[in-house]
Amino acid sequence: TETDATTWSSTSAAAFAHAEEVIPGGVNSPVRAFGAVGGTPRFIASAQGPFVRDVDGREYVDLVGSWGPALLGHAHPAVVAAVQEAAARGLGFGAPTTTEVELVDEIRARVAAAERVRLVSTGTEAVMTALRLARGATGRDLVVKFAGCYHGHVDALLAQAGSGLATFGMPGSAGVTAAQAAETIVLPYNDLAAVEAAFAEHGDRIAALITEAAPANMGVVPPLPGFNRALREITRRHGALLVQDEVMTGFRVGPAGWWGLEGRVEDWAPDLLTFGKVIGGGLPVAAVAGRAEVMDLLAPRGPVYQAGTLSGNPVATAAGLATLRAADTDVYVHVDAAAAHLRRALTGALAEAGVPHAVQWAGSLFSVVFGEEAATRGARDYASVQASEHWRYAPFFHALLEAGVSAPPSAFEAWFVSASHDEAALDRVIEALPAAARAAAAA
Ligand code: PMP
Repeated sequence: TETDATTWSSTSAAAFAHAEEVIPGGVNSPVRAFGAVGGTPRFIASAQGPFVRDVDGREYVDLVGSWGPALLGHAHPAVVAAVQEAAARGLGFGAPTTTEVELVDEIRARVAAAERVRLVSTGTEAVMTALRLARGATGRDLVVKFAGCYHGHVDALLAQAGSGLATFGMPGSAGVTAAQAAETIVLPYNDLAAVEAAFAEHGDRIAALITEAAPANMGVVPPLPGFNRALREITRRHGALLVQDEVMTGFRVGPAGWWGLEGRVEDWAPDLLTFGKVIGGGLPVAAVAGRAEVMDLLAPRGPVYQAGTLSGNPVATAAGLATLRAADTDVYVHVDAAAAHLRRALTGALAEAGVPHAVQWAGSLFSVVFGEEAATRGARDYASVQASEHWRYAPFFHALLEAGVSAPPSAFEAWFVSASHDEAALDRVIEALPAAARAAAAA
């Protein structure tokens, strides 16, 4: 029989033991497996506002937010009602619906660079389509990406990718052909000299440069001022497309995503943008968007093929539309303030415990990098994040979890707050931080 200390997690533990026998690694997406922090992932039974509840009845303040979509908090009444109403009208038709066009109109109203939008179901699909479009538009083969940036599990982009590959220490993925790998140039993030050099050498063969608008898959590593804009200038000079991946940042760091904070369409804009997460409000919706001239190359108007049985699904797009309609200025003001409040508490607790660190942030996304090097210089690229004292994260994470706070189970992931994280929820996190900081110090 189990002791009192472990009884609370027994249902999760039993569920995971079974899951591991029938699903590879027991999970349907690798980072859920607690691979970097150890222990048993909690099986979640329900979620409401800023809280998730596991199958053992334990409640946690949630700082994962479904890995991004839950901008409004879990089970927001307006979103749940929109989903229920849409579901009652039918789950999918494989024919156009007005809801999907309304969602596209909402996206276009917020992001001026999104002249045309094509809806898909996952960020991976959006990125895959963006690259195919870039290759179709330019007739070129090569793609440039940055180490530590994650763009979904697109074959050509898994080299030195962040997210789960960073968590599990994988340099890339088996099963990617040598030919695909050879079509990708991987450069250090925030390094314009490296970008200039790569374009000087291969410029006439590069179809696109893809970048996370503000990287948040190697932990958060914000772009240096002017970096994205310089990428725009370099790609334009060489006739390559700039693809700004806003799957993470889109409609989260502001009403118009990261580009909305940095760019103006009359000034500079990427050729293509990718979105996901928030635009589905928790259901599978993602999008590729951008300049009409490029987007109109998509079939059935143009020669670049892309399709999807579930694309623009009426229930999923209803969730996304309700989410964006509820995400008014107050939501962004609140989320920004809540994130800033947590960042201050996090850095305060770690300083108090004598842990050298940097809390890095981009809009409302943030994460912590441990170590003297990060504390003095900040981590500007994947190499510096990898060289940090990321082993301090596991004890830190588990101390939070024990206190009822669910932080991302990896040092290489961003923390997410929502409009539903009120003072009471934030206080619970803040009360849990000192013990977690001491655990990080002792590691
Ligand atoms: N791009 C970025 C920047 C992401 O953060 C992610 C997912 N975390 C993706 C693409 C892939 O999206 P999906 O998991 O929906 O395929």
